[in-house]
Amino acid sequence: MSNPSFVVIGSGMAAFGAAYRLHSEGISPVMFDKNSYHGGHTTSFKNEGGFIFDMGPHISYTKDPRIQEIFADSVDQKYETIQIYLNNYWRGHWPQHPAQLHLHGLPHDIVVKVISDFVEEKNAPERTVRNYADWLYASFGKTFSETFPMQYTKKYHLTAAENLSTDWLGPRIYRPSLEEVLLGALSPTAPHVHYVTNFRYPTAGGFVRYLTKFVPLGNLKLGHELTAIDPNSHELSFANGVTARYDQLVSSVPLPELIPMIKGAPSDVVDATRRLACSTCVLVNLGINREDISKAHMTYFYDEDMCFARLGFPHMLSTQNAPPGMGSIQAEVYFSSKYKPFTGKPEDWIEPVIRDLRRCGLLRDEDQIMTKEARLLKYANIIFDLERAEAVKTVHAYLDDIGISYCGRYGEWGYLWTDESFKSGEKAAERALSGALTQR
Ligand SMILES: Cc1cc2nc3c(=O)[nH]c(=O)nc-3n(C[C@H](O)[C@H](O)[C@H](O)COP(=O)(O)OP(=O)(O)OC[C@H]3O[C@@H](n4cnc5c(N)ncnc54)[C@H](O)[C@@H]3O)c2cc1C
Repeated sequence: MSNPSFVVIGSGMAAFGAAYRLHSEGISPVMFDKNSYHGGHTTSFKNEGGFIFDMGPHISYTKDPRIQEIFADSVDQKYETIQIYLNNYWRGHWPQHPAQLHLHGLPHDIVVKVISDFVEEKNAPERTVRNYADWLYASFGKTFSETFPMQYTKKYHLTAAENLSTDWLGPRIYRPSLEEVLLGALSPTAPHVHYVTNFRYPTAGGFVRYLTKFVPLGNLKLGHELTAIDPNSHELSFANGVTARYDQLVSSVPLPELIPMIKGAPSDVVDATRRLACSTCVLVNLGINREDISKAHMTYFYDEDMCFARLGFPHMLSTQNAPPGMGSIQAEVYFSSKYKPFTGKPEDWIEPVIRDLRRCGLLRDEDQIMTKEARLLKYANIIFDLERAEAVKTVHAYLDDIGISYCGRYGEWGYLWTDESFKSGEKAAERALSGALTQR
């Protein structure tokens, strides 16, 4: 048999993780991406005003020294290391993040209720945790849960906490002790306990620069949208009429798009795919004529009447992300085809975002908006609703059966950060390599 051909679909973190692993075995895969640029969700754009925006706020906070080294090498060690500062906005107040440890400055009646509920919950019999809502009540008590994380859940996950599982939490939400809550209520300077303390970001060119050294590892063909896979003949068809054969296939294509394009996919698998939920994000990117917009790198918004769930300030990640003296804001407004379908055009959200930025005081009347644009991220965050685990199991079992190695955030259908997506690509490449060995 001649050398097996390895094909990788995508050119984001996962696809390049796969290319990186294959390259270490002396294999250069053929890579296809539907876009005219590489990077997927980790791409970055410079607009005509000279502002650089990523596809959603991207910072690297991996604690894995191997990945830190690989990424650092990809930018020739030219990266910023920044101590993170995050805060929250709630009805005119700006508590530091996480809010459960920074109640200082909030209205007294709220602080008193949060603490008394917290104590009551600690003394109550242990709850059975069936969903995220139970977990929140058990961790924080009723008032805090319903005022903060449950509100945020509706904006960010687009469904109620009762409809979410807890298998995505990991270290994401801090469970404080009573002493920590009290200290944060009494003092404006409670300790920083977020799971991210420092992060790295490329000095020049935006987050996509982390991919620079991976691009030559494969034979990358852009503008190739995969439309059909025949798992029997191992043939791939693309929207531009090109066809290709594979011996081993690694895919980072989102599962809801991958499964329907597989010839002969069983109906129960197609049905399972329909139950998978994901958020869609409208990103509104603004260039502003001053840089002292915020002291936080990111702010979470809880109020229902504020259209965005989160704001990022790209000029604070690298001074090269904005022209000198200028600043930038990236707002995230969330939808979900399963829970809150997006209609209209991304641009429809530019004015509502500007209105709410003025209402919360981040934009002043005299500020000049130098550039404004909106983009749509069809796939943003996986929603861990109660249907997810079973549906993902069904879909993955089928892909394993037909020998397609799925990877990345939308192949694994999980809450993967960039480092995890890269490693997921490496693992998929390992599966493809052992598949090639058994084929011989
Ligand atoms: C709003 C937001 C903020 C985030 N912030 C952070 C952060 O701060 N730090 C962090 O570490 N992670 C962050 N992440 C997560 C990070 O973006 C992902 O972990 C990572 O980018 C996923 O990489 P991937 O390769 O799995 O997917 P993708 O980047 O989506 O790559 C998939 C690729 O497949 C291609 N493709 C899809 N369909 C086809 C087809 N039919 N034919 C050909 N090609 C196709 C796509 O064009 C794309 O290039 C964030 C994600 C979002 C949405």
